[in-house]
Amino acid sequence: MNIIINGLEDKRYERPLQLIANLFYEETKLTVTEEPVASGQSLVLNINITRQVNKLHASAELLDPRLIAHRTSDFVKKETEKEEFKQYKNTVSHVFLSILQDYTGIRQKWGVLTGIRPTKLMHRHRMNGVAPDIARANLKEQYLITDEKIDLMERIVDRQLTMIPDLYKIQDEVSIYIGIPFCPTKCAYCTFPAFAIQGKLGKVSSFLAGLHYEIQETGRWLKERGVAITTIYFGGGTPTAITAEEMDELYKEMYRSFPDVKNVREVTVEAGRPDTISPDKLEILKKWDIDRICINPQSYTDETLKAIGRHHSVQETIDKFHLAREHGMNNINMDLIIGLPNEGVEEIKHSLAETKKLMPESVTVHTLSFKRASEMTLNREKYKVADRAEAEEMMNLAQKWTAENGYVPYYLYRQKNILGNLENVGYAMPGEESLYNIIIMEEVQTIIGLGCGAASKFIDHSSGSITQFANPKDPKSYNEGFMDYTSKKIAFLEGLFPPKVETL
Ligand code: SF4
Repeated sequence: MNIIINGLEDKRYERPLQLIANLFYEETKLTVTEEPVASGQSLVLNINITRQVNKLHASAELLDPRLIAHRTSDFVKKETEKEEFKQYKNTVSHVFLSILQDYTGIRQKWGVLTGIRPTKLMHRHRMNGVAPDIARANLKEQYLITDEKIDLMERIVDRQLTMIPDLYKIQDEVSIYIGIPFCPTKCAYCTFPAFAIQGKLGKVSSFLAGLHYEIQETGRWLKERGVAITTIYFGGGTPTAITAEEMDELYKEMYRSFPDVKNVREVTVEAGRPDTISPDKLEILKKWDIDRICINPQSYTDETLKAIGRHHSVQETIDKFHLAREHGMNNINMDLIIGLPNEGVEEIKHSLAETKKLMPESVTVHTLSFKRASEMTLNREKYKVADRAEAEEMMNLAQKWTAENGYVPYYLYRQKNILGNLENVGYAMPGEESLYNIIIMEEVQTIIGLGCGAASKFIDHSSGSITQFANPKDPKSYNEGFMDYTSKKIAFLEGLFPPKVETL
């Protein structure tokens, strides 16, 4: 779809309006131009916005068929022009969304929101002491979010604050993410740093040497500065793709180098691919008191697993789940994906029925997203996926199933190009929610990323600014530069956590 916007002079509108257009159409080209255009194959809208003292008035008009939308919103003088422009942008987004909703007949349940973390908006209201009914009214009015999604946000925020009552006060601590970039094979939808462990780039031992160094140096700094760790998360890749001995050494390093690991609130190890799980590795996980693991079926249909290149069977997932239970793993998460190739309502019903036989402590329901670099996106025509209506039906089924089986939603995030403009939702048995997932999603604390592809997020609570720093995704570049990345991250930390001043 080609969309042309007349009437707005500022090119900065193009990006946010493009993101809104993407909610309605798979491939959209949107242009903000002052030049007169002939409509032809394009959808041409006139959008105007004016300010009168403390009010912004926006209107949007589509000529054929004739549709009109108006919005008046408050204008508040801000410190920077950028902040003031945000108010213009929101007002214009409103009228643009309204026209597209009327034109297509599609109602966007998240309204004008196109960001990844909608629950942050609800937290902001809570932090500022805004009453729940006012917060609800604001979200509805400002962003056009539907009651259904506001309900979901409220439930999630409540659960998060139950699990981490000091959620707004944990900025003096950090969490750690450790990225292990190896998998047995690469899945078709994957854009994570995941290299086939047998492949050329799979120099596991030299990668691990770099990772041990990062853990030692970061741990030394944390100990010296007296900064505690709230949670640790091993992701990747598949952290259980390395050998049991390598895992043992790594966790030993974690205990030796990091401060007070015994009192870290949660340590998670993703064991995503069942084909990497073995009795000796489970022994190691137990030996080092790993609290939570993830075994990810994604689907319980063998043909689907084959189509997405998972190279393991449904039976193997089930067997490995039982094996993990036998080895004392009592907090297991399982991921499901809605909208995998050739899957519809029947396959999701089947996956949920199989999940019921296992009853893991948490189930994360993802919706397929077409990430730019994945095999699936590059060869999209090869894969037949559900349409918007069916994706929504599947999501509703999953939601209903989790409620009926005692799970509660506790975190959510959205992605670009996600099927049906839906979301990913983590459900858990009450009390079994992953603290790390809450912390990373709500951006309440600095997260230090170590290892390949690990993204660090340095949060400056005095200014609210977030600085990201990513280690390289491939083991070769990582091996060449890990010392440099470590010292850069420590320099960031120095700025955020100054030495504590002793008072007499
Ligand atoms: S197991 Fe996970 S990280 Fe590894 S290739 Fe598949 S999706 Fe990517």
